[in-house]
Amino acid sequence: MPGKQLIVFDFDWSFVDQDTDRWVFEVLSTELRRLLQVRKSSGTGMQCTPDVVNDTMKDLYERGFTKDQVLDALRILPFHPAMKRAVTSLQERNAETSFLCLSNSNEIYISTILEKHGLSNLFADIITNPAHWSSDAPDHLIIGRRHPASAPPHGCTVGCLANMCKGDELDTYLAAHGGKDSYSKIVYVGDGSNDFCPLLRMRKGDLVCVRKGLELDERIKEEGEEKGLKVDVVFWEQAWQIDE
Ligand SMILES: [Mg+2]
Repeated sequence: MPGKQLIVFDFDWSFVDQDTDRWVFEVLSTELRRLLQVRKSSGTGMQCTPDVVNDTMKDLYERGFTKDQVLDALRILPFHPAMKRAVTSLQERNAETSFLCLSNSNEIYISTILEKHGLSNLFADIITNPAHWSSDAPDHLIIGRRHPASAPPHGCTVGCLANMCKGDELDTYLAAHGGKDSYSKIVYVGDGSNDFCPLLRMRKGDLVCVRKGLELDERIKEEGEEKGLKVDVVFWEQAWQIDE
């Protein structure tokens, strides 16, 4: 037996084959999908992804879209059967493997998709932005920040968004579960720019599976050496390669 292992998954474009935030609007309203894009690109730096999605979800609600429509959109979000096979077979082969989801999406999106695919019990923990349906307006989804705007800034210097430092989140998780050295191996599957920070906390002999041609791939090439990246790197493009 290889001993205790942790598999960390980013969600959008890593675990699933889409961006959850964009997808819901793409399914329901081209106009709001465009508005999301405009808001993202006019961000002042203070504004971060969940804030922009939260603003646009309010517009969606005000235009009469319902909770069921949002949930149905999530249930048809592309999720590759080979990714499901990869994680369920690894889970069966090695009882000492645990799975952690570390994502800048939100609780409702992720739990809905996992439930749809029968994977609600896969992750030992899901670290993401909080979300809830408004008690006053049950069709209005409210999305918050993992790291609240009211708290002092997390101080990440690697470029994580204000609402979450994925490196800090990984370190905190490991510290609460016996420490980094209690794991014989940590594997990280990611694609985005904000997946770079946690990789700097990983050791030689740990592994990162980088989705080819996306932002994380670029950052590793441009900054990996200078920032002292120690982790072993492999590249993948499609879920069947993760299964392999
Ligand atoms: Mg991603």
